[in-house]
Amino acid sequence: MERAGAGEHRERLAAFGARCGSAEVAEWAMQANRNPPQLKSFDRYGQRIDEVEFHPAYHQLMALGIGAGVSSAAWSGASAGHVLHTALEFLMAQAEPGVCCPMTMTYASLAALENQPELLAEWKPRILSSEYDGSSQPAKAKRGATIGMAMTEKQGGSDVRANTTRASRNADGSYNLVGHKWFCSAPMSDAFLTLAYADGGLTCFLVPKLSARKVAACAPSLTWCITPAWTAFWRRRHICDRRWRTPCGTRPTAPPFKESSSISR
Ligand SMILES: Cc1cc2nc3c(=O)[nH]c(=O)nc-3n(C[C@H](O)[C@H](O)[C@H](O)COP(=O)(O)OP(=O)(O)OC[C@H]3O[C@@H](n4cnc5c(N)ncnc54)[C@H](O)[C@@H]3O)c2cc1C
Repeated sequence: MERAGAGEHRERLAAFGARCGSAEVAEWAMQANRNPPQLKSFDRYGQRIDEVEFHPAYHQLMALGIGAGVSSAAWSGASAGHVLHTALEFLMAQAEPGVCCPMTMTYASLAALENQPELLAEWKPRILSSEYDGSSQPAKAKRGATIGMAMTEKQGGSDVRANTTRASRNADGSYNLVGHKWFCSAPMSDAFLTLAYADGGLTCFLVPKLSARKVAACAPSLTWCITPAWTAFWRRRHICDRRWRTPCGTRPTAPPFKESSSISR
């Protein structure tokens, strides 16, 4: 850290390291691994919800890392910010590497969003927030947000040129994305950087997990009355989780299939 010009963060890192090495955090990690996430495709009334439920210990680990700045320190103006980020990430991984995936993707997303000023203005405060908000609701209503990535398809890993997801432009300037992503970690993320072919070639879209569009007309009156307020008002239409998979190495953040969405570029 000294050699890389980040010596001034010594105390911050020592404190975070002690926390990561504590018995309490080790217990959270054990619980998060013993209780892997569950895909809930439907609610008890048969409505499609595509929700992924995580054990409370997973949320505690996320809150610990995001609170310490694992995903935001590099962009917060601290000196040698990316070195600081690397050290925080290293320490977090000693406690539980599974949660490092969503935090790393959230950290990395800002570099891509910087190419789209209006998206950056909207998302940056949530991405840099030190408050972890694990609730499942449209990002506009949240205090903090995490970002995932939907790049890989069955026929192409490193070679994203082989991707087949297509984006077609609507009259209002928004896009419909149709395709099938294969590896998509951290499905509870609030939005996903998503690769698709549009006019002009392969490009990247930010796809929010939940739409903020009102759907009063779609909700049967019974459901309207008895579901929690936000499911009645917010439509889950952007991303459809098809199947759950468990990869080696990152059990607490196992990825599902995802397909098809509708979004602005
Ligand atoms: C734990 C985990 C989480 C993941 N999470 C996500 C996620 O959230 N979102 C997402 O989109 N993807 C995710 N992925 C997928 C990941 O991005 C792909 O695995 C990656 O793109 C590599 O693709 P592949 O596995 O198909 O390997 P391949 O691309 O088939 O590569 C196989 C081998 O060939 C080599 N190789 C490939 N191309 C070349 C080349 N041109 N020249 C020389 N060598 C080459 C590679 O180095 C490798 O050794 C995740 C993967 C893992 C393991």
